Amino acid sequence: MEPLPPETGERWREIHALSLDCVHCGLCLPTCPTYRETGSEISSPRGRIYLLRSVAEGRIPLSEVVSDEAYLCLGCRACETACPSGVRFGSMLEHARAEVETANLRAGTAKRIERFALRSLLPHRRRLRFVVSVLAVVQRLRLDRMLLPLLPRRLRELHPLLPKVPPRRDRRRPRKLVRGWGDRRGRVGFLVGCIASELFGHVNAATVRVLACNGFDVVVPRSQGCCGALHAHAGDLRGASELARRNIAAFAEAEVDAIVVNSAGCGAAMRDAGRWLPGEGEAFAAKVRDVAEFLDAAGLRPPDTPIDARVCYDDPCHLVHGQRVAEAPRNLLRQIPGLKLQPHDDPEGCCGAAGIYNLTHPEMSRAVLERKMRSLAAADPDIIATGNPGCLMQIGAGVARLGLRARVVHPIELLDESYFPPGRPLPAGGR
Ligand code: SF4
Ligand code: SF4
Repeated sequence: MEPLPPETGERWREIHALSLDCVHCGLCLPTCPTYRETGSEISSPRGRIYLLRSVAEGRIPLSEVVSDEAYLCLGCRACETACPSGVRFGSMLEHARAEVETANLRAGTAKRIERFALRSLLPHRRRLRFVVSVLAVVQRLRLDRMLLPLLPRRLRELHPLLPKVPPRRDRRRPRKLVRGWGDRRGRVGFLVGCIASELFGHVNAATVRVLACNGFDVVVPRSQGCCGALHAHAGDLRGASELARRNIAAFAEAEVDAIVVNSAGCGAAMRDAGRWLPGEGEAFAAKVRDVAEFLDAAGLRPPDTPIDARVCYDDPCHLVHGQRVAEAPRNLLRQIPGLKLQPHDDPEGCCGAAGIYNLTHPEMSRAVLERKMRSLAAADPDIIATGNPGCLMQIGAGVARLGLRARVVHPIELLDESYFPPGRPLPAGGR
């Protein structure tokens, strides 16, 4: 092999080293959502690896074509699960996007949306809360529907993705410490997330109740913040490491046995903290567990109230591919009396949410979602369960668009419903 050009930077050397693991077998192609939609080699994992390797070797310039492909990729990492050669495509993609950002190759609406969300909103809890509160008022007064016809087409198309903002009582953070009920089994930290805190507070509350009900003290450090997943996916590795550092400090103070996360995207990013911050990041990452994985390994106290329904479990990419957790959520759901797991054809396919991909690439996102929804509609479940806020919103929008009857929930909500049906009092300190 020819040596790399001497001007090749550190990141390109890393990308090049990672690309050498690819043996061009093509086994990843059928799992790649963009390849499935376009049928184009350049929009497949193998094609992207070839492009990036070509740039690293100085055979082609870092151009808009490379930039477009790096961002058309959903970062779902299905190619990693399929790859017999252990190619770490997610790492390669993060480095490539960081180089695209450094070269300032992206412009336009997508970039502006992304920059605003990542720099000015997500890391700032008060600002995020303010924006969500304004949205709540707009929705309550139905101004969004009145203003819709006046908006540009692109913004109109995004409207169905906007979830209904929950009432203020459901946007409260869980208490700093909730003691485990019954025999104590340990002490865990809990990441509440940034968007999740505002739009899925009821899922956070359910997670704390289920953990406490299983005997775990739950600590919710006040100084925690955004996990940095979206920053890393967008190539802002510095922003991602700064946010990771803040969470490392927050959870170190809490002195917990494990850090439990109920959002697959956040969990996958936190498990990668060692790559951004060797040493302290590695120790932190080693404690991170998805809530389903954690409870399945600990052994669930039996949920007792039946839920007579058929549920399709849908794997979030960053849980099944990013963290290799597939069976744990299914194992938990099987323990709920009356609940039947209903298979469907495409549980591991991406739903097209991918962070803010549904905002930056709405056409591809919609095409990817349609494939997923065909599979779910054919199974016709009463409930669809998936463990990631972005997937909950995206699949929720798909259900609404098709007029399906299924409700879309996080698996932990079903456990919570079985432990605490309406009318059953919570133990002291349970709210
Ligand atoms: S991360 Fe997903 S979208 Fe990107 S190349 Fe791999 S399979 Fe395709
Ligand atoms: S499966 Fe792995 S080795 Fe085969 S083409 Fe895809 S990335 Fe390369």
